[in-house]
Amino acid sequence: MKTIVLLFLLAASIATSHGIEHGIDYNIYPLRMKSGSGGHYINGITCSSWRLGVEAHNIIEWKTIPQECEGYVGNYVLGVEYRQDSKAVNREAYFYARSLDLIKDGKNIWVFDVDETTLSNLPYYANHGFGVEPYNSTAFNEWVGLGIAPALPESQKLYHKLLSLGIKIVFLTGRLESQRDITVKNLKDAGYSTWEKLIVKDATKYKGKTAVTYKSSERKKLEEEGYRIIGNIGDQWSDILGTNTGNRTFKLPDPLYYIA
Ligand SMILES: [Mg+2]
Repeated sequence: MKTIVLLFLLAASIATSHGIEHGIDYNIYPLRMKSGSGGHYINGITCSSWRLGVEAHNIIEWKTIPQECEGYVGNYVLGVEYRQDSKAVNREAYFYARSLDLIKDGKNIWVFDVDETTLSNLPYYANHGFGVEPYNSTAFNEWVGLGIAPALPESQKLYHKLLSLGIKIVFLTGRLESQRDITVKNLKDAGYSTWEKLIVKDATKYKGKTAVTYKSSERKKLEEEGYRIIGNIGDQWSDILGTNTGNRTFKLPDPLYYIA
């Protein structure tokens, strides 16, 4: 009995000292390193820290995801977190768009990247180690050629909401001119019914140029044509860095690959 009373008093004192006040729990739970899906160490950091570094653009120019993080990245992109993270970005983009008092002259556009922004290549990456395997352009282009990439649902919601606000959509993608027709078919099949422009890359003109250079140059042309880039959304930093980036940019999560 004495032991039980002592334990009760001990528990009560711990509860008080750890901040349970008025029924609200202010506990800061101790971090449990190495536990859970984010727990594998790579060079002294966890896979979740690696992903944060990637999303914040502190870790750049990486070629493949760390081998140790295949399971972590796979779980992330196939699980609820990727969807939630995407939702948080798209929701914020919509809140921003609807707050604007736009001139209704048909010149307001929103720039969408395609891969991992509008269409998802997860069916491909699930078969290729979630970014562990080095990029294989032949295999990836074969997949693109099938034209069956599904829509990213949270991005698609934003797409519809922007259209309903009277903002036109411009797709700006690193996909090549030779992939235009299959991309048009894929977009339509995936539920993207209308757009102002689909800009694909001229492989000759932009040979050896970075995505930042290519996309900046194409956005500049849009502005020279009189369009106002109200917003710009992509999964790569190269979608939203450079010049003529638009009034606001939004970065979607993508721990699968990096494009400079
Ligand atoms: Mg992309």
